[in-house]
Amino acid sequence: LFAGQSEFLKGVVSMDGVPPADRLEICFAGRSNVGKSSLINALTGRKALARASNTPGRTQEINYFTLGPLYLVDLPGYGYAEAPVAVVEKWQRLLKAYLAGRATLRRAFLLIDARHGIKKVDEEIMDLLDASAVTYQVVLTKADKPLQKDLDKVIEQVRGALSKHPAAYPELVLTSSEKGTGLATLRAIIAAMARG
Ligand code: GDP
Repeated sequence: LFAGQSEFLKGVVSMDGVPPADRLEICFAGRSNVGKSSLINALTGRKALARASNTPGRTQEINYFTLGPLYLVDLPGYGYAEAPVAVVEKWQRLLKAYLAGRATLRRAFLLIDARHGIKKVDEEIMDLLDASAVTYQVVLTKADKPLQKDLDKVIEQVRGALSKHPAAYPELVLTSSEKGTGLATLRAIIAAMARG
C-alpha cells in the first residue's frame, strides 16, 4: 500500500494548524501504549514514521502524515492514568473539534489492546465518535500476546460493545505489528478508502 509514499507533514495542537481539507483522510485513535505508533509504522512500512512515544501523555499533538493520496492522522493517545485533568480536558476539546471539523474524514480506526479489550475510556471515545457520526472500526493490537482462549473472550466482548454503538463498523480487524498479522487486511481497507 502506497509503499514509500508516506511522509510526516506536521503536528498540530489546535484546529488552526490542520492542513487544508484537500484530501480524504483516516485517523488512528487509542489509549496510550496500545501500539498505535508501531501499527502506523508497520502499515506504512517505515521504521520511525510515527515516533513511538514512550512518554505516555506527552504527545498531545495531532500528527498529520500523507499516505499516498490520503492523509493519515495520528491522534494523541488517551487514557494515561496520571494525566492531569487539564490535559485530559484539552485533549477532549481538541478531539471534539477535530471530529466535528473534518468533513474529509472517512474512517477512524480505534485501536484496542487485544489483551485488555474495551475499557471505560474507550467507551467514552466511542460515544464521542457516535455523536460525531464518524464511522469507526476497531483494530485489535498486539494479537500475538494473549492466549487464544483469552483472545476469543476479548473478541466476544468487543463484538458485544460494537453492536451497541451506531457509528461502529461491525467488523473488527485483528493485528500484530510484531508478527505482521492483519496488516494486509488493514491495508486493503485503507486502499478502499482512497478509492473514494
Ligand atoms: P503507542 O503509545 O500506542 O504509540 O504504542 P507503541 O507503538 O509505542 O507500543 C507500545 C508498546 O507495545 C511498545 O513496547 C511496543 O513494542 C509494544 N507493541 C506494539 N505493538 C506490538 C505488537 O503487535 N505485539 C507486541 N507483542 N508488542 C507490541
